[in-house]
Amino acid sequence: MSLQLREWDGPLTRDLVRHPPKVLGKAVCGFCSTGCGLKLHENGVVTPDLDYTVNQGTACPKGWEALSVLDAPDRATVPLHHGKPVSWAEAMSIFTTKMREVGPENAAFISTGQIMTEEMALLGAVAKFGMGILHGDGNTRQCMATAVAAYKESFGFDAPPFTYADFEQSDVLVFVGANPCIAHPILWQRVLNNKRNPKIVVIDPRTTETAAAATMHLRLRPKSDLALFYGLAHQIIQLGGTDKAFVQASTSGYEQMREHVQAYDLDRTSSETDIAMSDIRMLARWIVEGTPRVSFWWTMGVNQGHQATRTAQSIINLALMTGNIGKPGTGANSITGQCNAMGSRLFSNTTNLLGGHDFTNPIHREKVARATGIPLERIPTRPSLAYDQILQEVEEGRIKALWIIATNPAHSWIQQGRFQKLASKLEFLVVQDMYHSTETARMAHLLLPAAAWGEKEGTFINSERRHGYSMKVRRPPGQALSDFSIFRLVAESWGCGDLFREWSSPAEVFKILQRCSADQPCDITSIQGYEQLIREGGVQWPPGQGKERRLFEDGKFFTPDRKARFVVADPQPPIETPDDAYPLVLLTGRGSSAQWHTETRTGKSQVLSKLHPSELILTLHPSDAGHIVDGQKVLVQSRRGSIKATAQLRTTVRRGEAFLPMHNPQVNQLTLEVVDPISRQPSYKHCTVRVTAESTVGVVSSGRSGV
Ligand code: SF4
Repeated sequence: MSLQLREWDGPLTRDLVRHPPKVLGKAVCGFCSTGCGLKLHENGVVTPDLDYTVNQGTACPKGWEALSVLDAPDRATVPLHHGKPVSWAEAMSIFTTKMREVGPENAAFISTGQIMTEEMALLGAVAKFGMGILHGDGNTRQCMATAVAAYKESFGFDAPPFTYADFEQSDVLVFVGANPCIAHPILWQRVLNNKRNPKIVVIDPRTTETAAAATMHLRLRPKSDLALFYGLAHQIIQLGGTDKAFVQASTSGYEQMREHVQAYDLDRTSSETDIAMSDIRMLARWIVEGTPRVSFWWTMGVNQGHQATRTAQSIINLALMTGNIGKPGTGANSITGQCNAMGSRLFSNTTNLLGGHDFTNPIHREKVARATGIPLERIPTRPSLAYDQILQEVEEGRIKALWIIATNPAHSWIQQGRFQKLASKLEFLVVQDMYHSTETARMAHLLLPAAAWGEKEGTFINSERRHGYSMKVRRPPGQALSDFSIFRLVAESWGCGDLFREWSSPAEVFKILQRCSADQPCDITSIQGYEQLIREGGVQWPPGQGKERRLFEDGKFFTPDRKARFVVADPQPPIETPDDAYPLVLLTGRGSSAQWHTETRTGKSQVLSKLHPSELILTLHPSDAGHIVDGQKVLVQSRRGSIKATAQLRTTVRRGEAFLPMHNPQVNQLTLEVVDPISRQPSYKHCTVRVTAESTVGVVSSGRSGV
C-alpha cells in the first residue's frame, strides 16, 4: 500500500499541498532500503520529494509518519546505569572501566543497518582499530548475509546489479519469496509504472498481496526453491534458451551446472515442489520468450533459509544462463531490507574491512591503513565471527561484554528464549538506542541515549547502490547524542581519540570512506561530497553517466577471470519437519506496510497502528482448523515456546502451513535457530508448530493429523 501525494485528495493532504509548512530539509527515509527522498517540514510534517528519482513523489505510510515517531515519551534522553540516570562522563567511565575489566578480546559489538554509513564506519573503526575488539557483526546478518555470500561467490563482489528502472523495463518479472506490495510498496509502484504489459510471476508458498496481483503464482512447498530453479534451468536448456554467446564469453561452470540440473526433470521437480508440471514448463517458456528482458527479484523468502546461499545462486544461474544481466529490465536482483543494509555490507568494518575489503588480505590491509591513516598493526588480520557465533561465544562464557547499537535482538533474534538466556549471562551489556523501552534496552546494564534519523546527518546506501543524504532538522531530546558523537566519546574515553582526529564529522568520514573505496567495484572517489548527493538526488556506485545505472553492461564481472560463476548444490531437507506432535509448518514475515521490524518506531505512531490489526493474527488453512473457528483465540506451540494468537482461517496459506507476522515480540519464541552454513543467516521461514484452541488446550488440535 502506498499513498501518492499527487493523487491523494483528502482535505488534510490537499491543504498540505497548497499550504505546506516550511521545509526544514530533505532526507532519505530511515526505514527501508527503498531509499525514498522525503521533505521534512515544520511541525513534524513529512511529504515525499517529487523530484527524487527513487520514489518520484510517493511514500509509504512509514515515510509519512517518519518524524512523528521521534516524539514518543519513551525516548532515551539520558544515560542510564542499571536504570538510574548518570552523566555522559560517568557513562563513559563505566563503559571504559567495564570493557577493560572483561578485556576487548572478550567483548563484541552488534551493529545495525539503521544508522548512517559514516556512523557505522566510525563504530567499526573505533571498536576494531581503536579498542582492539575483534568480533562485531550487524543485524544485517538477519536479512542480507545470504545475498552478500551469493553475489561474492557468483560475481566476485557483493554487487546487486540492478537499477529501479529495471522494474519498468522488464517483460517478465519473477519475484521469489518477496512481497513488494507491502514490504517495498514504492518499488511495487515502479512495477506498476511498467508500460510493457509485463508478466509478473510470484514464487511463494503464500498467496501474498503481490501473489494476488501476479500473472502467475507458483505456490511451492516451503524451502523447495532449489529444486524448482534447477528444474527451470533444465527446461530452459531443453527449450534452447541458453544464451550460448554470453555463457561462453562471460561465465564459468556452465557445463557442471547443466549436468547437475539434468536430474531435475519435470516429474522430479513437480513432486519435490508441489508445482504442476505444466506451470513449470510455462514459466520456463515465459523466461525464454521474455529474454532479454527478464528480471529476477528476491528477498527474505530466499535469504532466510537453511540452504539460502545456494538458493540465491540458483536464481543467479537462471539470469546468467539466459544472458538476462547487464541489460535494461534484467538481473538477478536481491532487494535489501533496512535503509542502510548496503552501507553496512560495504562500510561497517565488521566481517568486511572498510570498502568491501578483506581482513585476511595483506594488500587490502595496507591500502585501508593508507586511506585511513590508521597504523597497519592495528588492523585485524582475520574477520569477525558471525552474529550466531558471537552468541555461541557468549553462551560458552568467552564473550562477556556486548555492545548493541540500534537493534533489538531480545525481540528479533531467532529462537528468542535462547538469546534472552545467554544475554543474562553477560557481565556487561551496553545498549545504544533512541528508546529506553525496547526489549533489549530493558536488559542493559548501561543504556546510551541516541539521536534518531532527522536529528543527525549522514548518508545511506539503498538497494540499487544509491548513496543518499539525510539532513539533521531537529535537536535530539534531552542529552541524547548522535551515534557519531557517542562513538567519538568512546574513542576519547578509551584513550584512542588521537587515531580518529580526522574522523571529526560525518562529512570528513565520507571523504575517508571515498579513499577506502578507491579501485573497488564500489568506488565512490569521484563523488563531489554531500553537495553532489543533494544536488543529484543520490548517486549510485560506481558513479557514471545518467541517474539510474546497472552493473555488468560490458559482460565483465569482478572475479579474477572477469567471468560470473555458476554454483550448484544438492538440496537438503529442512532441519525440522512436521510430525504428529507438531504437524504444521510455521512461516513468518512482514505483516503490513505500516510496520517495521520490531516496531520500536512504528509502534509509536497512532496513525500506523490503525493500519494493521492490534492483535497477533495466526493465518491457518481452514482444512487444518478442526474445531477452531475464525476469530478464536489459540495457542501456537513449537518445541521452544508457546504463544497466544487469534486464528484467521484463510486459504492464503497452503494446507499444513501457518503464518505469523514477525513484528509481535513473542513470535520468535517459536522459531528454531538454524542458519545457512555459508552466509550464517538465520532461517526464520521454517519451523514446526501445533495450534490448539486456547480454552480447550490439549483437547482440540489443529493440523493434518489432529482433530
Ligand atoms: Fe520509502 Fe521504505 Fe521509507 Fe516507505 S519505508 S517511505 S518505502 S523508504
